[in-house]
Amino acid sequence: MLRIQPQIGLHIGLHILLVEDDPVLADGLLRALSAQAMTVQLVRDGIAADTALQRTASVPTFDVAVLDIGLTGIDGFEVVRRLRARGAAMPVLLLTARDAVEDRVRGLETGADDYLVKPFATAELIARIRALARRHAPPSSVLALGRLSLDSATRRARIGDRAVELSVREWGVLEYLLQHAGRVVSKQQILDAILPWGDDVTLNAVEVYVSRLRLKLEGADVAIRTIRGFGYLLEAAA
Ligand code: CA
Repeated sequence: MLRIQPQIGLHIGLHILLVEDDPVLADGLLRALSAQAMTVQLVRDGIAADTALQRTASVPTFDVAVLDIGLTGIDGFEVVRRLRARGAAMPVLLLTARDAVEDRVRGLETGADDYLVKPFATAELIARIRALARRHAPPSSVLALGRLSLDSATRRARIGDRAVELSVREWGVLEYLLQHAGRVVSKQQILDAILPWGDDVTLNAVEVYVSRLRLKLEGADVAIRTIRGFGYLLEAAA
């Protein structure tokens, strides 16, 4: 599996899962999509695709899945069927080697959103990926305080016009503090809010994330105050 690791938190461009077992086509598409500032995870069989998509249960990792139908292990139809059975709404574009009506119907009935017949122009694939991502984009929800803003749809954090790079956990802590700006929140409340993403996080870890955030939020005109023995309070800096 060739993996270009997405930087979660500073979200630039779309995150694509590409499932294609033809090595020449796969490598060509990987290059073409990457050149469009898309972050691509390439897997080459149906089982690997199913596994990659299961990881998205807690963190939405992919904006669009591009899925070949003819795969070893389980085919593209079955990958989509399992994805939808888990309740995932991620847009899926199917690729097929033949323009058979029954394949197209079966793909759409299984829960795919779009369909492209090989051979296709790379430009058309890119346009369709963008269209799918636009249709499925969650409504933008921006939290802001001082010069700091967090866009939960794009997962972009900014201080003024400057992008701030945050880890997934730092993002979670900051989002929770910002949702409760002006109120005191306990470390346990913060922990409960970020736990869906992770495994073993302790109250001490919350302190570590907060101290990192304080460094990263320099110039944001916000302050994370320590409420001794209890937790934190995010407020606009005086
Ligand atoms: Ca194939």
